[in-house]
Amino acid sequence: MTQQPLNATLVKRIDLGPHHTIFRCHHDDGPLSFTAGQWTELGLPRVEPGEIGPQGDEFVKDGVVRRAYSICSSPGDPDVEIFFNKVDNGQLTQWLHRLNEGDRLYVDPECRGHFTLDGVPESSELLFCATGTGIAPFVSLLRAYAGTGRWERLTLLYGATHASVLGYEEEFREHAKVDPSITFIPTLTREPESSAWTGRRGRLPELLVNTGAFSEMTGLSLDPGRTHVYLCGNSGMITDMEHLLVPLGFTPRWMDPAGTIRTEIYY
Ligand SMILES: Cc1cc2nc3c(=O)[nH]c(=O)nc-3n(C[C@H](O)[C@H](O)[C@H](O)COP(=O)(O)OP(=O)(O)OC[C@H]3O[C@@H](n4cnc5c(N)ncnc54)[C@H](O)[C@@H]3O)c2cc1C
Repeated sequence: MTQQPLNATLVKRIDLGPHHTIFRCHHDDGPLSFTAGQWTELGLPRVEPGEIGPQGDEFVKDGVVRRAYSICSSPGDPDVEIFFNKVDNGQLTQWLHRLNEGDRLYVDPECRGHFTLDGVPESSELLFCATGTGIAPFVSLLRAYAGTGRWERLTLLYGATHASVLGYEEEFREHAKVDPSITFIPTLTREPESSAWTGRRGRLPELLVNTGAFSEMTGLSLDPGRTHVYLCGNSGMITDMEHLLVPLGFTPRWMDPAGTIRTEIYY
């Protein structure tokens, strides 16, 4: 079996806590070609036979364990930026998380996915919803399009457990400050009551239960003819949001290609 060459270097790592990390990787062949919202694959070789990647793991190719990661950087950035969390005993992330700046890894030069603004008219309203590292594609989308007039209105709902792992918070606040079409609403589920956090608490779907209040807060009409919804992160949040949106007339694109709910399910 030939081993795929490691083709990229970790040039910067930022740790938000013991489990949440941002990597900036430089591919040997230069910037990747992709559209904001797409994903690539990262990979590492098995450390010992059997130690990483179970037999039959469809994501082990030529001895390299590969997993999908949404790209945070914007197209044209010389490096690929990834935001991931270490899954205890995870086949890839427990090893990925041990890398130091200067270490080598595999980054797939072929980027994929439909979680882009392709097909969305400029007059649209956008509702972006992310949990945890599911914020990654929205980092890229805002870096690429904030301030360009690409949408009429955009609301970003961002759920995380604690304030410390609310990655990119300052960047989103800055986008919302300079581009009045953007509303940024973070919410935390497990932040201690005694902490300095003064923002919202609770799960993302709770924000949408009262649709009248939600429209008032965000300025979105929640009209399936105008509003395009993007859901990214764990399947629990995505299912719960779909259950709230479908009765309003929204349809997921996995049911109907003309639907206005796009999903990126991480796990
Ligand atoms: C299109 C796509 C884009 C993705 N983009 C990202 C990204 O930008 N950042 C990111 O962190 N992950 C992302 N993921 C998830 C990623 O591909 C891996 O599944 C994840 O990093 C775990 O890999 P692992 O090999 O360490 O764990 P594995 O050994 O493959 O899985 C162990 C178990 O961990 C659980 N799990 C998987 N992901 C998570 C998670 N994030 N948090 C908690 N539990 C989890 C699953 O239930 C799984 O059964 C994406 C997935 C897809 C399909």
